[in-house]
Amino acid sequence: MIIDMHSHLDLYPNPHQIAKECNDRGMYVLSVTTTPKAWRGTQDLVKGYKRIRTSLGLHPQLVHERFEEIELFDHLLPKSPYIGEIGLDGTKHYQPNFQQQLKVFRHILKSINSHGGRIMSLHSAGATNVLLSELANHKSIGIPILHWFSGSKVELKKAIDRGCWFSIGPAMLATRRGKELIKHMPQNRLLAETDGPFARMKQEMVMPWDVNIVCKQLGRIWGYSLKEVVNLLDSNFSGLISQAGISSLSL
Ligand code: MN
Repeated sequence: MIIDMHSHLDLYPNPHQIAKECNDRGMYVLSVTTTPKAWRGTQDLVKGYKRIRTSLGLHPQLVHERFEEIELFDHLLPKSPYIGEIGLDGTKHYQPNFQQQLKVFRHILKSINSHGGRIMSLHSAGATNVLLSELANHKSIGIPILHWFSGSKVELKKAIDRGCWFSIGPAMLATRRGKELIKHMPQNRLLAETDGPFARMKQEMVMPWDVNIVCKQLGRIWGYSLKEVVNLLDSNFSGLISQAGISSLSL
């Protein structure tokens, strides 16, 4: 099974077609959203497609415009076992909104904690340390998956110690630094993603099924065949689902 653990299906120019093709290919996709208002419509894209899950999100880069949707987030939370994209962005452009992001993120983690935890796809650009400290304040938030990890090696160690998982996409594999970090990540807590349509590969828009290219590149780093990588990620995914205690949703 091919798994794309972080794709913005609703933001492709032709989302119905892309969703159908994922389904035809038998792919598993975590279809992340960036605002609570987008959740229902994005779910409708994949009606009847059993292996595509839609996660409820509030992207840190949109928090300053969409913070009022936090109420809707709380309302939808009981219905969604997957959360993302959420997190913090401490990069220069979003630094001015950081306190507001932090407020919203704290609220979200508190809500998730009081609902027994979720599988979360987290954005942590320029904010790894703060994000990890926030996660540590809760006992039952479920499983954090750091998507597109871009912290330091010290932060990586901290994230591993905190029980984080990682989803690796084209952007990480495009830099030497990213590849170096991957070598230090536990293979049994790793998943592949595309982050399409934002991520690009050779200037082209990345499709969810291009996650195969990510798998091939991981194979090169680890010295595994494509089949070995696919099997490993497949078994990681099963482990994730059972660890999260949502076996009724496993595939
Ligand atoms: Mn994303």
